[in-house]
Amino acid sequence: MRPRLITAAIAAATLVVGAAVPAQAKPAEPPKEATAVGYGGAVSTVDATATAVGLDVLRRGGNAVDAAVAAAATLGVTEPFSAGIGGGGFFVYYDAKTRRVHTIDGREAAPASMTETSFVNPSTGRPYQFDEARISGLSAGVPGTLLTWRDALDRWGTRSLAQMLKPAERVAEDGFTVDETFASQIAGNQTAFGQFSSTSALYLPGGQPPAVGGTFRNPDLAATYRLIAKRGTDVFYRGEVGRDVVATVQHPPAAAQPVGTWPYPIRPAGMTAADLAGYRTRFPEPTRSDYRGLEVYGMSLPSSGGTAVGEALNILEQFNLRSMTATQAMHHYLEASALAFADRNRYVGDHTPRDVLRELLSDAYARERACLIDAAAALPKPVAPGVPDGAYGGCSAAAAADTRDDRKSTTNLTVADRWGNVVEYTLTIEATGGNGMVVPGRGFLLNNELTDFNFAPTQGTAPDPNLPAPGKRPRSSMSPTIVLADGRPFLAVGTPGGATIITTVLQMLVNRIDLGMTLPEALAAPRASQRNGASTQAEPEFITGYAASLPPGHAFSATEEIGAATGIEFLADGRLLAAAEPVRRGGRAAAVVGRWARH
Ligand code: GLU
Repeated sequence: MRPRLITAAIAAATLVVGAAVPAQAKPAEPPKEATAVGYGGAVSTVDATATAVGLDVLRRGGNAVDAAVAAAATLGVTEPFSAGIGGGGFFVYYDAKTRRVHTIDGREAAPASMTETSFVNPSTGRPYQFDEARISGLSAGVPGTLLTWRDALDRWGTRSLAQMLKPAERVAEDGFTVDETFASQIAGNQTAFGQFSSTSALYLPGGQPPAVGGTFRNPDLAATYRLIAKRGTDVFYRGEVGRDVVATVQHPPAAAQPVGTWPYPIRPAGMTAADLAGYRTRFPEPTRSDYRGLEVYGMSLPSSGGTAVGEALNILEQFNLRSMTATQAMHHYLEASALAFADRNRYVGDHTPRDVLRELLSDAYARERACLIDAAAALPKPVAPGVPDGAYGGCSAAAAADTRDDRKSTTNLTVADRWGNVVEYTLTIEATGGNGMVVPGRGFLLNNELTDFNFAPTQGTAPDPNLPAPGKRPRSSMSPTIVLADGRPFLAVGTPGGATIITTVLQMLVNRIDLGMTLPEALAAPRASQRNGASTQAEPEFITGYAASLPPGHAFSATEEIGAATGIEFLADGRLLAAAEPVRRGGRAAAVVGRWARH
């Protein structure tokens, strides 16, 4: 969403930290731009308020990690249907001092009570419908966002969590202007939200979404942020906020007078205080693939982002895309993506063994996969997964497609600071509006991330790597990516979009690295997402631009928009180029600390 900034709220949210700007100074609202070029640090999000908060932290001497946490906490207020402390995400960090890339897995975890058949209706023996599972306690995973923030700050930040929650708390307390996106995200969830007393009270005052142009306040969330600031994350994971999370999952807060009729029973589930107390973030090694002399670092398990983007790049590296027409390059991009998705669906889940991951990202395996691509025709889809067993040779050639999950929720942000540190962070509550339940009195929505598990086996007689299990984390597609050139940052990109995240990140990289586009052009270009399905989902402009000239065998289904990306490029002359979507999802929230170099 893109709330118009209530400047007073942000001005009041000045931080008592750092000294780059006098404490009284009013942080200027950044112009709502899709591209900003300059020095001293940069922030790109899909929301002007969050970008303003992140920029202010940088201006006051905070680093990229501080700014990323403050911006993310603000997105929890202004983009509550996409992200917040009821959800999870993946944080990728480049540390300028050590020149190393680190990651935090703050993905939601299944409670101990979850089983392989939790999403199968015991009375019919059939998997639940998506919405039936989503709007229930069953879909809520143990949230990881707050611990991600704490752990990022503890390890690499220079400010406290309490300090970084402050600006967001003020936005929640003082309010922001409701825009059309915010109102329409509520309208799109009206019946689901209307089933719960807490959600209706916050988001459906008088049974309707709040009016566009009005001021939206969330005092309960402000109080929750204040409580966490005062008492630390234990108040969530071992204290009263956590108790309320558990109570909400176990006893969904039914509305006395529901708005509309929800077609399914609303099922409770068994998350417990012990599940919350047992939650830990993880710090996996990033995935790495070398692509045309660059090092591409991505998110490892339980995300499939790093391996799928990396494998597709490795396949594409077998071809000289630069010497091809744009249409041929897009043909190869679509085919490589289908091949990588076949492997992701067959092999990647929270518990995938390391050696399988290594093989999936090996050049030898990519060569074997690449030889399946025919320049003159599209492969019939779905393509079969390969066998990443270390013994590669000729080409082998049917598998189940997993083409669901093209939703438009989640949010992404990119931050760089004056010291050269970089954060690429994708966070989510899964579907727009999560599981529909605001935790009563706490002001935040719970996630429905566990619906990212497969509800029933998808791989025929082969094992499915993404079935639910106790404590397991559902497979994600989130792909926060940092690209280094000679060990130094060159690009950082990420996007929301469910499984289209993988293809959008891949397409942006191909656009920028191979097709000669600038980063803003690479973000703006029309998108297509081939996920090993019979048809490729694509924006209308992509279809008009390419469908007629592509080799035979491609089929397209039109979708209005794919993703809402952000990115930063580190230009050769030392400037930072922050890029946000010019149009998709409101976009335009890129900013730099200074337009001119300091001397
Ligand atoms: N739950 C999705 C994932 O982890 C992200 C949801 C979205 O971006 O719409 O892959």
